[in-house]
Amino acid sequence: MEPLRLFDPLHEPFSDLLLLEDAPAESVADTLSRSRVLRANPGEEVLAAGVVNDKIYVVLRGTLRVDLDGRGEGSARHLGRGECIGELSVIDGSRTSASVLAVDQCELLALEGTEVLALAEASHPVARNLLRILSRRLRGTNELLREEASQSQALRLRSVIDVLTGLYTRAWLEETLERLAQRSDRGDAQFSLIMADVDHFKAVNDTWGHVAGDRVLQKVGAMLRAALRPTDSATRYGGEEFVIVLPGVAEAQVAARVAERIREAARATVLMPELGAGSPRLTISLGVAARRPHEDGKELLRRADEAMYRAKRAGRDRVAL
Ligand code: GH3
Ligand code: MG
Ligand code: MG
Repeated sequence: MEPLRLFDPLHEPFSDLLLLEDAPAESVADTLSRSRVLRANPGEEVLAAGVVNDKIYVVLRGTLRVDLDGRGEGSARHLGRGECIGELSVIDGSRTSASVLAVDQCELLALEGTEVLALAEASHPVARNLLRILSRRLRGTNELLREEASQSQALRLRSVIDVLTGLYTRAWLEETLERLAQRSDRGDAQFSLIMADVDHFKAVNDTWGHVAGDRVLQKVGAMLRAALRPTDSATRYGGEEFVIVLPGVAEAQVAARVAERIREAARATVLMPELGAGSPRLTISLGVAARRPHEDGKELLRRADEAMYRAKRAGRDRVAL
């Protein structure tokens, strides 16, 4: 930025500048007449993010663009005549949180931190304006942070909860298996897995369409949730494959009893009530594996999957160990 001139409070209007609104000329003219006016060319950086800044820039002419932490065009704010930037970092000595660029050719009144304080001391309206600008800025920042927090919460939720069925996702399962395995190896109880796959699911899609297929998957999700104890958790592992984690269940025989209960609950589920007696039946095939000491999640899953395929080969609608 290049210095243009000193500000001339006698000949230049300033009552429309937010910071100086209602300020009597005699209380601020002296300080203003010592303040510099700078020129910023289009695209020129006025403030970089993350630097120590000791000036407030008041826009006299042109437009500035404020980018909060490089969030890009979408969240950029524009400042025109009368608005200012830099006040937070001047007041509390923090580093700037935004980068500021000149959109077109700008004239900026540069007020040093000491000049801002002198103005606020000399004029009540300036002090009040400064508070107003600061609180508005804080509120805006809070809103952005809140928005960001809820966005990242939503993303996190989507990565662990399957949107179709409301069950956990495969990503969640893999993380959880690792954690459970470590805990078991440190002396906690073992755990077991059930791998469940819907029988002839392709036929549901082929006969009633994908939307109906999706609805069936939702029913399977609800059935699993209802059939399990609160400590057990069901995951949608793939398209129509589900994995159930049974913490504290060390014996495959015990897990097999749970699997058998699920198999019966599946048979009792009416998939398409609107079809009455013509509703297709839901059957699933299940494979069970109890974790062996020091076995990793992948290997345990592989054994449960293998057992599930044995159940398929043996005629479906059954449980295999
Ligand atoms: P099997 O008894 O051997 O398991 O037979 P299957 O027809 O269930 O087996 P297969 O794995 O060949 O077919 C699974 C089908 O599941 C194929 C795929 O189109 C369907 N599918 C996978 N994900 C979804 C989904 O999200 N929605 C719907 N509607 N269908 C899905
Ligand atoms: Mg299947
Ligand atoms: Mg399958």
